[in-house]
Amino acid sequence: MSNQVQPDASETATGAEGLTVGIDLGTSNSVVALMQDGEAVILPDQQGNRIHPSVVAFGYGNTAVVGHRAKQQLTYSPENTIYSAKRLIGRRYSSDEVERMKRMVSWGIAEGPHGDARVRVQGKIYAVPEVSARVLAHMKEIAEQATGQKVNAAVITVPAYFNDQQRQATRDAANIAGLATKRIINEPTAAALAYGYGRERRQHIAVYDLGGGTFDMTVLRMEPGLIEVLSTSGDTFLGGDDFDAKIAEWLQATIEREHDIDLSDNFTARTKLRDAAERAKIALSTLPAVEVRVPSLARDKTGKSVSVNTRLDRAKFINLVMPLLQRTFVVVDDALSQAGLSTAQIDDVLLVGGMTRLPVIGEAVGKYFSKAPVGSINPDEVVAIGAAIQAHSLTQGFDPGAAVLLDVTPQTLGIGTVGGFVEPLIPRNTAIPSDANKIFHTAQDNQTEVRIKVYQGESRMQGDNELLGHFILDGLKPAPRGECKIKVTFSIDANGIVNVSAIDQESGRAHELSIEASSALTQDEVHNMKFDELGF
Ligand code: AMP
Repeated sequence: MSNQVQPDASETATGAEGLTVGIDLGTSNSVVALMQDGEAVILPDQQGNRIHPSVVAFGYGNTAVVGHRAKQQLTYSPENTIYSAKRLIGRRYSSDEVERMKRMVSWGIAEGPHGDARVRVQGKIYAVPEVSARVLAHMKEIAEQATGQKVNAAVITVPAYFNDQQRQATRDAANIAGLATKRIINEPTAAALAYGYGRERRQHIAVYDLGGGTFDMTVLRMEPGLIEVLSTSGDTFLGGDDFDAKIAEWLQATIEREHDIDLSDNFTARTKLRDAAERAKIALSTLPAVEVRVPSLARDKTGKSVSVNTRLDRAKFINLVMPLLQRTFVVVDDALSQAGLSTAQIDDVLLVGGMTRLPVIGEAVGKYFSKAPVGSINPDEVVAIGAAIQAHSLTQGFDPGAAVLLDVTPQTLGIGTVGGFVEPLIPRNTAIPSDANKIFHTAQDNQTEVRIKVYQGESRMQGDNELLGHFILDGLKPAPRGECKIKVTFSIDANGIVNVSAIDQESGRAHELSIEASSALTQDEVHNMKFDELGF
Protein backbone atom coordinates (compact mmCIF):
# COMPACT_ATOMS: atom_id res chain seq x y z
CA MET A 1 0.00 0.00 0.00
CA SER A 2 1.27 3.44 -0.78
CA ASN A 3 0.39 6.55 1.13
CA GLN A 4 2.04 8.76 -1.41
CA VAL A 5 0.01 11.81 -2.21
CA GLN A 6 1.21 13.48 -5.35
CA PRO A 7 0.34 17.14 -5.21
CA ASP A 8 0.10 19.43 -8.16
CA ALA A 9 2.94 21.85 -7.45
CA SER A 10 0.99 24.81 -8.78
CA GLU A 11 -1.82 24.12 -6.33
CA THR A 12 0.36 23.47 -3.30
CA ALA A 13 2.07 25.64 -0.70
CA THR A 14 5.37 25.74 -2.59
CA GLY A 15 8.16 28.11 -1.66
CA ALA A 16 11.16 28.88 -3.85
CA GLU A 17 12.89 25.57 -3.10
CA GLY A 18 10.29 23.33 -1.56
CA LEU A 19 6.97 22.90 0.14
CA THR A 20 5.74 24.81 3.17
CA VAL A 21 3.76 22.52 5.44
CA GLY A 22 1.66 23.14 8.54
CA ILE A 23 2.94 21.40 11.67
CA ASP A 24 1.14 20.98 14.95
CA LEU A 25 4.09 20.33 17.29
CA GLY A 26 2.13 18.91 20.21
CA THR A 27 3.21 18.01 23.72
CA SER A 28 2.09 14.44 23.20
CA ASN A 29 1.58 14.13 19.47
CA SER A 30 2.51 15.98 16.32
CA VAL A 31 0.71 16.22 12.99
CA VAL A 32 1.77 17.52 9.59
CA ALA A 33 -0.63 18.85 6.95
CA LEU A 34 -0.53 20.43 3.52
CA MET A 35 -2.93 22.33 1.32
CA GLN A 36 -3.62 20.39 -1.85
CA ASP A 37 -6.10 21.30 -4.55
CA GLY A 38 -7.90 23.78 -2.34
CA GLU A 39 -8.14 21.40 0.60
CA ALA A 40 -5.89 20.98 3.62
CA VAL A 41 -5.03 17.32 4.14
CA ILE A 42 -3.14 15.44 6.83
CA LEU A 43 0.01 13.77 5.47
CA PRO A 44 0.26 10.21 6.81
CA ASP A 45 3.45 8.21 7.32
CA GLN A 46 4.14 5.06 5.31
CA GLN A 47 2.20 2.95 7.81
CA GLY A 48 -0.83 5.21 7.41
CA ASN A 49 -0.49 6.91 10.83
CA ARG A 50 -1.84 10.45 10.80
CA ILE A 51 -0.65 11.48 14.26
CA HIS A 52 2.78 10.77 15.67
CA PRO A 53 3.95 10.72 19.29
CA SER A 54 6.25 13.66 20.09
CA VAL A 55 8.65 11.20 21.66
CA VAL A 56 12.39 10.88 21.03
CA ALA A 57 14.11 7.67 22.15
CA PHE A 58 17.87 7.80 22.35
CA GLY A 59 19.83 4.64 21.62
CA TYR A 60 23.57 4.15 21.89
CA GLY A 61 25.91 6.74 20.43
CA ASN A 62 24.09 9.56 18.77
CA THR A 63 21.23 7.45 17.42
CA ALA A 64 17.62 8.26 18.13
CA VAL A 65 14.23 7.18 16.91
CA VAL A 66 11.17 9.39 16.90
CA GLY A 67 7.40 8.92 16.94
CA HIS A 68 5.65 5.57 17.23
CA ARG A 69 8.87 3.56 17.44
CA ALA A 70 10.15 5.85 20.19
CA LYS A 71 6.96 5.54 22.23
CA GLN A 72 7.37 1.75 22.21
CA GLN A 73 10.72 2.21 23.98
CA LEU A 74 9.15 4.22 26.79
CA THR A 75 8.32 1.38 29.15
CA TYR A 76 11.60 -0.52 28.91
CA SER A 77 14.02 2.42 28.65
CA PRO A 78 12.21 5.32 30.33
CA GLU A 79 15.37 7.23 31.25
CA ASN A 80 16.42 7.41 27.57
CA THR A 81 13.02 8.26 26.12
CA ILE A 82 12.07 11.90 26.06
CA TYR A 83 8.35 12.75 26.07
CA SER A 84 6.56 16.02 26.84
CA ALA A 85 9.74 17.99 25.98
CA LYS A 86 7.45 20.82 24.91
CA ARG A 87 6.65 21.47 28.55
CA LEU A 88 10.29 22.36 29.03
CA ILE A 89 10.93 24.37 25.90
CA GLY A 90 12.04 27.95 26.54
CA ARG A 91 12.01 27.41 30.32
CA ARG A 92 14.60 28.48 32.82
CA TYR A 93 16.11 25.72 34.95
CA SER A 94 15.25 27.66 38.09
CA SER A 95 11.54 27.99 37.27
CA ASP A 96 8.78 26.33 39.31
CA GLU A 97 7.58 24.56 36.21
CA VAL A 98 10.92 22.82 35.78
CA GLU A 99 10.84 21.78 39.45
CA ARG A 100 7.43 20.19 38.88
CA MET A 101 8.59 18.58 35.68
CA LYS A 102 11.56 16.99 37.45
CA ARG A 103 9.14 15.13 39.69
CA MET A 104 7.06 13.97 36.74
CA VAL A 105 9.48 12.64 34.14
CA SER A 106 11.76 9.65 34.08
CA TRP A 107 14.60 11.34 32.19
CA GLY A 108 17.15 13.81 33.48
CA ILE A 109 16.86 17.59 33.47
CA ALA A 110 20.04 19.67 33.76
CA GLU A 111 20.93 23.35 33.75
CA GLY A 112 22.27 24.73 30.47
CA PRO A 113 24.87 27.48 30.04
CA HIS A 114 22.17 30.16 29.74
CA GLY A 115 20.36 29.02 32.85
CA ASP A 116 18.00 27.16 30.51
CA ALA A 117 16.57 23.76 31.31
CA ARG A 118 18.16 20.98 29.25
CA VAL A 119 17.65 17.29 28.78
CA ARG A 120 20.21 14.85 30.14
CA VAL A 121 20.29 11.47 28.55
CA GLN A 122 23.08 8.84 28.57
CA GLY A 123 25.46 11.35 30.11
CA LYS A 124 24.91 13.88 27.32
CA ILE A 125 23.14 17.18 27.59
CA TYR A 126 20.76 18.33 24.86
CA ALA A 127 19.11 21.72 24.56
CA VAL A 128 15.33 21.25 24.45
CA PRO A 129 15.09 22.74 20.92
CA GLU A 130 17.48 19.96 19.80
CA VAL A 131 15.02 17.37 21.06
CA SER A 132 12.00 19.14 19.53
CA ALA A 133 14.00 19.49 16.32
CA ARG A 134 14.08 15.71 16.06
CA VAL A 135 10.29 15.64 16.19
CA LEU A 136 10.09 18.38 13.55
CA ALA A 137 12.65 16.57 11.36
CA HIS A 138 10.45 13.47 11.64
CA MET A 139 7.43 15.51 10.46
CA LYS A 140 9.48 16.91 7.60
CA GLU A 141 10.54 13.41 6.58
CA ILE A 142 6.95 12.11 6.73
CA ALA A 143 5.81 15.02 4.55
CA GLU A 144 8.63 14.45 2.07
CA GLN A 145 7.84 10.76 1.84
CA ALA A 146 4.12 11.43 1.44
CA THR A 147 4.53 14.04 -1.27
CA GLY A 148 7.75 12.95 -2.94
CA GLN A 149 8.88 16.59 -2.69
CA LYS A 150 11.36 18.53 -0.62
CA VAL A 151 9.92 20.34 2.42
CA ASN A 152 11.92 23.35 3.53
CA ALA A 153 9.55 25.52 5.50
CA ALA A 154 6.65 25.32 7.90
CA VAL A 155 3.98 27.19 9.76
CA ILE A 156 4.28 25.83 13.29
CA THR A 157 1.65 26.09 15.96
CA VAL A 158 2.24 26.78 19.64
CA PRO A 159 -0.08 27.14 22.64
CA ALA A 160 -1.57 30.63 22.62
CA TYR A 161 -0.16 31.30 26.06
CA PHE A 162 3.46 30.59 25.04
CA ASN A 163 5.76 33.48 25.90
CA ASP A 164 8.54 34.96 23.78
CA GLN A 165 11.20 32.49 24.96
CA GLN A 166 9.03 29.49 24.24
CA ARG A 167 8.22 30.80 20.75
CA GLN A 168 11.83 31.63 20.05
CA ALA A 169 12.94 28.19 21.21
CA THR A 170 10.34 26.62 18.91
CA ARG A 171 11.72 28.63 16.00
CA ASP A 172 15.25 27.49 16.95
CA ALA A 173 14.02 23.89 16.90
CA ALA A 174 12.70 24.37 13.35
CA ASN A 175 15.96 25.94 12.31
CA ILE A 176 17.96 23.01 13.73
CA ALA A 177 15.66 20.63 11.84
CA GLY A 178 16.32 22.45 8.56
CA LEU A 179 12.92 24.15 8.36
CA ALA A 180 12.41 27.85 7.82
CA THR A 181 9.62 29.09 10.08
CA LYS A 182 7.17 30.92 7.85
CA ARG A 183 5.04 31.83 10.83
CA ILE A 184 4.34 30.74 14.36
CA ILE A 185 0.62 30.72 14.99
CA ASN A 186 -1.42 29.94 18.06
CA GLU A 187 -3.05 26.53 18.22
CA PRO A 188 -6.58 27.76 19.00
CA THR A 189 -6.31 30.39 16.27
CA ALA A 190 -5.27 27.66 13.83
CA ALA A 191 -8.31 25.63 14.92
CA ALA A 192 -10.58 28.63 14.30
CA LEU A 193 -8.95 29.18 10.92
CA ALA A 194 -9.68 25.58 9.94
CA TYR A 195 -13.24 25.83 11.26
CA GLY A 196 -13.87 29.16 9.54
CA TYR A 197 -12.25 28.24 6.23
CA GLY A 198 -14.65 29.02 3.40
CA ARG A 199 -17.48 29.96 5.83
CA GLU A 200 -19.27 33.21 5.34
CA ARG A 201 -20.53 33.72 8.89
CA ARG A 202 -20.43 36.46 11.43
CA GLN A 203 -20.03 34.95 14.88
CA HIS A 204 -18.15 34.77 18.15
CA ILE A 205 -16.41 31.54 18.83
CA ALA A 206 -14.62 30.16 21.86
CA VAL A 207 -11.88 27.56 21.56
CA TYR A 208 -11.33 25.32 24.60
CA ASP A 209 -7.96 23.70 23.94
CA LEU A 210 -6.83 21.01 26.37
CA GLY A 211 -3.80 19.11 25.14
CA GLY A 212 -1.20 16.90 26.75
CA GLY A 213 0.61 19.69 28.55
CA THR A 214 -1.21 22.98 28.21
CA PHE A 215 -4.62 24.56 28.42
CA ASP A 216 -5.67 27.62 26.42
CA MET A 217 -8.95 29.40 26.07
CA THR A 218 -9.33 31.76 23.15
CA VAL A 219 -12.26 33.97 22.15
CA LEU A 220 -12.50 35.04 18.51
CA ARG A 221 -14.70 37.13 16.30
CA MET A 222 -15.27 35.84 12.81
CA GLU A 223 -16.67 37.61 9.84
CA PRO A 224 -16.31 36.96 6.12
CA GLY A 225 -12.61 37.40 5.30
CA LEU A 226 -11.53 38.10 8.87
CA ILE A 227 -10.69 36.15 12.01
CA GLU A 228 -9.89 38.36 14.97
CA VAL A 229 -8.71 37.04 18.31
CA LEU A 230 -10.37 39.04 21.07
CA SER A 231 -8.66 37.44 24.01
CA THR A 232 -6.64 34.50 25.08
CA SER A 233 -5.82 33.08 28.44
CA GLY A 234 -4.06 29.95 29.47
CA ASP A 235 -2.05 27.77 31.74
CA THR A 236 1.10 26.21 30.30
CA PHE A 237 1.14 23.65 33.08
CA LEU A 238 -2.29 22.15 32.86
CA GLY A 239 -2.91 19.28 30.49
CA GLY A 240 -3.48 15.59 29.99
CA ASP A 241 -0.18 14.72 31.69
CA ASP A 242 -1.57 16.18 34.92
CA PHE A 243 -4.73 14.09 34.61
CA ASP A 244 -2.55 11.01 34.09
CA ALA A 245 -0.41 12.01 37.06
CA LYS A 246 -3.52 12.20 39.29
CA ILE A 247 -4.54 8.66 38.34
CA ALA A 248 -0.96 7.42 38.66
CA GLU A 249 -0.64 8.99 42.13
CA TRP A 250 -3.83 7.29 43.22
CA LEU A 251 -2.59 3.94 41.87
CA GLN A 252 0.79 4.41 43.55
CA ALA A 253 -0.75 5.34 46.90
CA THR A 254 -3.07 2.32 46.73
CA ILE A 255 -0.23 -0.09 45.94
CA GLU A 256 2.09 1.41 48.55
CA ARG A 257 -0.59 1.12 51.21
CA GLU A 258 -1.63 -2.40 50.29
CA HIS A 259 1.91 -3.77 50.04
CA ASP A 260 3.77 -1.53 52.46
CA ILE A 261 6.31 -0.42 49.85
CA ASP A 262 7.71 2.93 48.70
CA LEU A 263 7.81 3.48 44.94
CA SER A 264 8.90 7.12 44.99
CA ASP A 265 12.42 6.29 43.74
CA ASN A 266 11.36 3.49 41.41
CA PHE A 267 11.26 5.25 38.03
CA THR A 268 10.42 2.15 36.05
CA ALA A 269 7.41 1.39 38.25
CA ARG A 270 6.26 5.00 38.15
CA THR A 271 6.60 5.13 34.37
CA LYS A 272 4.53 1.95 34.11
CA LEU A 273 1.88 3.50 36.36
CA ARG A 274 1.82 6.69 34.31
CA ASP A 275 1.46 4.68 31.15
CA ALA A 276 -1.34 2.58 32.65
CA ALA A 277 -3.00 5.76 33.91
CA GLU A 278 -3.00 7.31 30.45
CA ARG A 279 -4.40 4.14 28.89
CA ALA A 280 -7.11 3.99 31.56
CA LYS A 281 -8.01 7.64 30.99
CA ILE A 282 -8.27 7.12 27.23
CA ALA A 283 -10.39 4.00 27.73
CA LEU A 284 -12.73 5.99 29.98
CA SER A 285 -13.54 8.15 26.95
CA THR A 286 -15.59 5.27 25.62
CA LEU A 287 -16.18 2.94 28.59
CA PRO A 288 -17.95 3.60 31.90
CA ALA A 289 -15.22 1.73 33.85
CA VAL A 290 -11.86 0.10 33.20
CA GLU A 291 -9.74 -2.58 34.82
CA VAL A 292 -6.24 -1.19 35.37
CA ARG A 293 -3.69 -4.00 35.22
CA VAL A 294 0.07 -3.68 35.55
CA PRO A 295 1.72 -7.08 36.02
CA SER A 296 5.03 -7.31 37.93
CA LEU A 297 5.16 -3.64 38.81
CA ALA A 298 7.73 -4.01 41.60
CA ARG A 299 8.84 -6.28 44.42
CA ASP A 300 7.72 -5.97 48.00
CA LYS A 301 10.02 -6.17 51.04
CA THR A 302 9.99 -9.98 50.94
CA GLY A 303 10.91 -10.00 47.25
CA LYS A 304 7.43 -11.01 46.12
CA SER A 305 6.21 -9.55 42.82
CA VAL A 306 3.55 -6.86 43.16
CA SER A 307 1.00 -6.24 40.40
CA VAL A 308 -1.75 -3.69 39.92
CA ASN A 309 -5.22 -5.01 39.39
CA THR A 310 -7.84 -2.45 40.16
CA ARG A 311 -11.02 -0.92 38.79
CA LEU A 312 -11.42 2.73 37.87
CA ASP A 313 -14.84 4.06 36.95
CA ARG A 314 -15.82 7.43 35.56
CA ALA A 315 -17.14 8.70 38.90
CA LYS A 316 -13.83 7.95 40.67
CA PHE A 317 -11.88 9.43 37.75
CA ILE A 318 -13.94 12.63 37.83
CA ASN A 319 -13.39 12.82 41.54
CA LEU A 320 -9.61 12.55 41.10
CA VAL A 321 -9.37 15.17 38.35
CA MET A 322 -12.08 17.63 39.44
CA PRO A 323 -9.58 20.23 40.75
CA LEU A 324 -7.84 20.20 37.35
CA LEU A 325 -11.14 20.53 35.50
CA GLN A 326 -12.11 23.44 37.72
CA ARG A 327 -8.81 25.15 37.00
CA THR A 328 -9.67 25.18 33.29
CA PHE A 329 -12.85 27.16 33.99
CA VAL A 330 -10.94 29.80 35.94
CA VAL A 331 -9.03 30.38 32.69
CA VAL A 332 -12.27 30.33 30.65
CA ASP A 333 -13.78 33.00 32.92
CA ASP A 334 -10.72 35.15 32.49
CA ALA A 335 -10.71 34.89 28.68
CA LEU A 336 -14.39 35.82 28.47
CA SER A 337 -14.01 38.78 30.79
CA GLN A 338 -10.97 39.98 28.82
CA ALA A 339 -13.04 39.77 25.63
CA GLY A 340 -15.91 41.60 27.35
CA LEU A 341 -18.36 38.86 26.38
CA SER A 342 -20.78 36.68 28.29
CA THR A 343 -21.30 32.98 27.62
CA ALA A 344 -24.60 33.84 25.91
CA GLN A 345 -22.73 35.90 23.32
CA ILE A 346 -20.64 32.92 22.21
CA ASP A 347 -22.20 31.30 19.12
CA ASP A 348 -20.01 28.22 18.80
CA VAL A 349 -17.59 26.46 21.12
CA LEU A 350 -14.79 24.39 19.57
CA LEU A 351 -13.00 21.66 21.46
CA VAL A 352 -9.37 21.14 20.56
CA GLY A 353 -6.67 18.83 21.95
CA GLY A 354 -6.69 15.10 22.58
CA MET A 355 -8.07 15.51 26.11
CA THR A 356 -11.36 16.91 24.84
CA ARG A 357 -12.24 13.40 23.65
CA LEU A 358 -13.17 12.70 27.27
CA PRO A 359 -16.96 13.02 27.55
CA VAL A 360 -16.64 14.71 30.93
CA ILE A 361 -14.85 17.64 29.28
CA GLY A 362 -17.49 18.12 26.58
CA GLU A 363 -20.23 17.86 29.20
CA ALA A 364 -18.60 20.40 31.52
CA VAL A 365 -17.99 22.83 28.65
CA GLY A 366 -21.57 22.32 27.40
CA LYS A 367 -22.94 23.09 30.87
CA TYR A 368 -20.79 26.17 31.26
CA PHE A 369 -21.83 27.69 27.92
CA SER A 370 -25.37 26.26 27.97
CA LYS A 371 -24.76 24.86 24.49
CA ALA A 372 -23.18 21.70 23.17
CA PRO A 373 -19.70 22.17 21.67
CA VAL A 374 -19.32 21.79 17.89
CA GLY A 375 -19.10 18.07 17.24
CA SER A 376 -17.81 18.04 13.69
CA ILE A 377 -14.14 18.84 14.18
CA ASN A 378 -11.38 16.34 14.76
CA PRO A 379 -9.58 17.67 17.86
CA ASP A 380 -6.32 15.92 16.98
CA GLU A 381 -6.07 17.16 13.42
CA VAL A 382 -7.78 20.55 13.26
CA VAL A 383 -4.73 22.53 14.43
CA ALA A 384 -2.41 21.12 11.76
CA ILE A 385 -5.13 21.76 9.17
CA GLY A 386 -5.29 25.43 10.23
CA ALA A 387 -1.50 25.66 10.05
CA ALA A 388 -1.57 24.25 6.51
CA ILE A 389 -4.20 26.82 5.49
CA GLN A 390 -2.02 29.59 6.89
CA ALA A 391 1.05 28.13 5.16
CA HIS A 392 -0.85 28.22 1.90
CA SER A 393 -2.00 31.80 2.26
CA LEU A 394 1.51 32.95 3.26
CA THR A 395 3.17 31.27 0.30
CA GLN A 396 0.47 31.73 -2.33
CA GLY A 397 -0.73 35.18 -1.43
CA PHE A 398 -4.45 35.61 -1.90
CA ASP A 399 -6.67 32.68 -1.05
CA PRO A 400 -10.39 33.42 -1.35
CA GLY A 401 -11.31 30.79 1.25
CA ALA A 402 -8.85 31.94 3.87
CA ALA A 403 -9.42 34.83 6.22
CA VAL A 404 -7.04 37.50 7.41
CA LEU A 405 -5.80 36.59 10.86
CA LEU A 406 -5.53 39.14 13.61
CA ASP A 407 -4.04 37.66 16.73
CA VAL A 408 -3.13 39.06 20.13
CA THR A 409 -0.19 38.87 22.51
CA PRO A 410 -1.05 36.53 25.36
CA GLN A 411 1.13 38.13 28.05
CA THR A 412 1.98 41.66 29.05
CA LEU A 413 5.40 42.96 28.00
CA GLY A 414 7.05 45.30 30.45
CA ILE A 415 10.33 46.68 31.69
CA GLY A 416 11.93 46.46 35.11
CA THR A 417 11.94 49.60 37.24
CA VAL A 418 13.55 50.42 40.57
CA GLY A 419 12.30 48.57 43.63
CA GLY A 420 11.76 45.33 41.73
CA PHE A 421 8.64 46.53 39.94
CA VAL A 422 7.58 46.14 36.31
CA GLU A 423 6.18 48.93 34.17
CA PRO A 424 3.82 47.44 31.56
CA LEU A 425 4.45 48.56 27.98
CA ILE A 426 2.32 46.32 25.78
CA PRO A 427 -0.63 44.88 27.72
CA ARG A 428 -1.80 41.33 27.17
CA ASN A 429 -4.47 40.82 24.51
CA THR A 430 -3.11 43.69 22.40
CA ALA A 431 -3.44 42.96 18.66
CA ILE A 432 -0.11 41.93 17.10
CA PRO A 433 2.11 43.06 15.50
CA SER A 434 2.40 45.85 18.00
CA ASP A 435 5.03 48.17 19.35
CA ALA A 436 5.65 50.66 22.13
CA ASN A 437 8.35 53.27 22.68
CA LYS A 438 10.04 54.50 25.77
CA ILE A 439 12.61 57.21 26.20
CA PHE A 440 15.51 56.29 28.45
CA HIS A 441 17.96 58.84 29.76
CA THR A 442 21.13 58.55 31.72
CA ALA A 443 20.86 58.85 35.52
CA GLN A 444 24.50 59.74 36.18
CA ASP A 445 27.10 62.03 34.65
CA ASN A 446 29.19 60.38 31.92
CA GLN A 447 27.14 57.23 32.04
CA THR A 448 27.95 55.21 28.93
CA GLU A 449 25.50 52.35 29.22
CA VAL A 450 21.90 51.73 30.19
CA ARG A 451 20.59 48.32 31.19
CA ILE A 452 17.00 47.48 30.39
CA LYS A 453 15.36 44.42 31.85
CA VAL A 454 12.46 43.10 29.80
CA TYR A 455 9.76 40.96 31.39
CA GLN A 456 6.69 39.09 30.25
CA GLY A 457 3.82 38.28 32.59
CA GLU A 458 0.94 39.80 34.52
CA SER A 459 2.52 40.62 37.86
CA ARG A 460 3.70 44.09 38.85
CA MET A 461 6.63 42.40 40.60
CA GLN A 462 9.68 41.39 38.58
CA GLY A 463 10.22 38.12 40.44
CA ASP A 464 6.82 36.75 39.42
CA ASN A 465 7.32 37.38 35.71
CA GLU A 466 9.45 35.76 33.04
CA LEU A 467 12.68 37.66 32.47
CA LEU A 468 13.21 37.74 28.71
CA GLY A 469 16.65 39.30 29.04
CA HIS A 470 18.74 42.30 29.97
CA PHE A 471 19.18 44.54 26.98
CA ILE A 472 22.30 46.62 27.30
CA LEU A 473 22.45 49.87 25.49
CA ASP A 474 26.12 50.76 25.39
CA GLY A 475 28.53 53.11 23.66
CA LEU A 476 26.67 56.20 24.87
CA LYS A 477 28.45 59.53 24.50
CA PRO A 478 29.71 60.72 27.94
CA ALA A 479 27.50 63.65 28.93
CA PRO A 480 25.93 65.26 32.00
CA ARG A 481 23.17 63.09 33.48
CA GLY A 482 19.80 63.25 31.80
CA GLU A 483 21.19 64.76 28.65
CA CYS A 484 21.53 61.58 26.67
CA LYS A 485 18.09 60.44 25.55
CA ILE A 486 17.52 57.16 23.79
CA LYS A 487 14.26 56.01 22.32
CA VAL A 488 13.83 52.28 22.75
CA THR A 489 11.17 50.48 20.71
CA PHE A 490 9.76 47.21 21.97
CA SER A 491 7.86 45.32 19.33
CA ILE A 492 6.01 42.05 19.16
CA ASP A 493 5.90 40.60 15.67
CA ALA A 494 3.20 38.46 14.05
CA ASN A 495 4.85 35.36 15.57
CA GLY A 496 4.48 36.78 19.06
CA ILE A 497 8.26 37.20 19.28
CA VAL A 498 9.71 40.26 20.99
CA ASN A 499 12.25 42.52 19.29
CA VAL A 500 13.95 45.53 20.81
CA SER A 501 15.67 48.39 18.98
CA ALA A 502 17.07 51.72 20.10
CA ILE A 503 17.69 55.11 18.53
CA ASP A 504 19.68 58.04 19.91
CA GLN A 505 17.12 60.87 20.09
CA GLU A 506 19.67 63.54 19.29
CA SER A 507 21.66 62.02 16.45
CA GLY A 508 19.03 59.64 15.12
CA ARG A 509 21.73 56.97 15.23
CA ALA A 510 20.60 53.39 15.75
CA HIS A 511 22.09 51.73 18.80
CA GLU A 512 23.31 48.21 19.10
CA LEU A 513 21.59 46.26 21.81
CA SER A 514 23.31 43.27 23.28
CA ILE A 515 21.24 40.73 25.14
CA GLU A 516 22.30 39.15 28.39
CA ALA A 517 20.58 36.83 30.82
CA SER A 518 18.42 35.41 28.10
CA SER A 519 17.85 31.68 28.28
CA ALA A 520 17.66 31.51 24.48
CA LEU A 521 20.27 29.76 22.37
CA THR A 522 22.70 31.97 20.47
CA GLN A 523 22.75 31.99 16.67
CA ASP A 524 26.06 30.13 16.73
CA GLU A 525 24.70 27.42 18.99
CA VAL A 526 21.69 26.91 16.74
CA HIS A 527 24.00 26.75 13.75
CA ASN A 528 26.21 24.12 15.38
CA MET A 529 23.23 22.01 16.39
CA LYS A 530 21.80 21.90 12.86
CA PHE A 531 21.18 18.44 11.50
CA ASP A 532 23.01 17.67 8.30
CA GLU A 533 21.26 16.37 5.21
CA LEU A 534 21.85 12.77 6.26
CA GLY A 535 19.87 13.16 9.44
CA PHE A 536 21.36 13.35 12.91
P1 AMP B 1 -2.56 16.72 22.34
O1 AMP B 1 -1.49 17.46 23.10
O2 AMP B 1 -3.62 17.56 21.78
O3 AMP B 1 -1.99 15.71 21.39
O4 AMP B 1 -3.35 15.84 23.45
C1 AMP B 1 -2.76 14.76 24.04
C2 AMP B 1 -3.50 14.42 25.31
O5 AMP B 1 -4.79 13.91 24.98
C3 AMP B 1 -2.79 13.33 26.08
O6 AMP B 1 -2.88 13.63 27.46
C4 AMP B 1 -3.60 12.10 25.75
O7 AMP B 1 -3.56 11.13 26.79
C5 AMP B 1 -4.99 12.66 25.60
N1 AMP B 1 -5.84 11.85 24.76
C6 AMP B 1 -5.59 11.42 23.50
N2 AMP B 1 -6.60 10.67 23.05
C7 AMP B 1 -7.52 10.62 24.05
C8 AMP B 1 -8.79 9.99 24.20
N3 AMP B 1 -9.34 9.25 23.24
N4 AMP B 1 -9.43 10.17 25.37
C9 AMP B 1 -8.89 10.91 26.36
N5 AMP B 1 -7.70 11.54 26.27
C10 AMP B 1 -7.02 11.39 25.14
